Amino acid sequence: MKYCTKCVMPSTRPGITFDENGVCSACQSYERRKTIDWDARFKEFEKLCDKYRGINGNAYDCAIAVSGGKDSHYQVHLMKEVMGMNPILFSVEDNFPMTEAGKHNLKNISDEFGCNIISLKPDIKTQKKLMRYTFEKYGKPTWFIDRLIYTYPMHMAVKFNTPLLVYGENVSYEYGGADYIETYSAKNQLSNGVASDIDLNELIANTGVSMKDLEMTKAPSKSEMDLLDPMYVSYFLPWNSYANYKFAS
Ligand SMILES: [Zn+2]
Repeated sequence: MKYCTKCVMPSTRPGITFDENGVCSACQSYERRKTIDWDARFKEFEKLCDKYRGINGNAYDCAIAVSGGKDSHYQVHLMKEVMGMNPILFSVEDNFPMTEAGKHNLKNISDEFGCNIISLKPDIKTQKKLMRYTFEKYGKPTWFIDRLIYTYPMHMAVKFNTPLLVYGENVSYEYGGADYIETYSAKNQLSNGVASDIDLNELIANTGVSMKDLEMTKAPSKSEMDLLDPMYVSYFLPWNSYANYKFAS
């Protein structure tokens, strides 16, 4: 195992690469920020918002996938208060006992910004069966939940006709990972290695769950994906988790 010579990120991070000086792809992305024309990027962002603002009349014109934390607070502020959009928020919650802080934070978003949040409370029976199997087979106990965090907002964005589905940072680009491409589009997010495809028939054969139990974990169909325009905020603005934390506090 080796470590990045700059930030000590280990080579065990899925999809990470290193240059000839042993510097990881996340550090290289961070260096590249200095060369980016952020004013031009923000203009691109404005254009994208202009394209979708008001598309459904008084109904929602964009969607944000939120957990309720610092980054969610910043994204909701950005889309609603800065860009003048009308977002609906999608969240996956309550699959594990939530802390009081977690409950407070999620509620605080609707309290502060005046937004509706639609939450998926996942099927715990299926979760238990899958957690054990994906842990023992792949070392990924939270595959089911991670997968839903990606797929549920996409399915909902299709239903609400809100093509502009907002995500925070592109984790592959910002922190190093399999889907290492600099683009605003989050269309390929599912292949970033966090919750990649597992053969559903394998899960059914080994855990006793049914295809119906797994429906929500499926990626949207090709024709559904064509309707969506999912985006990463981190392409348009220099992403800063610490600043988001300070903003949320
Ligand atoms: Zn590094």
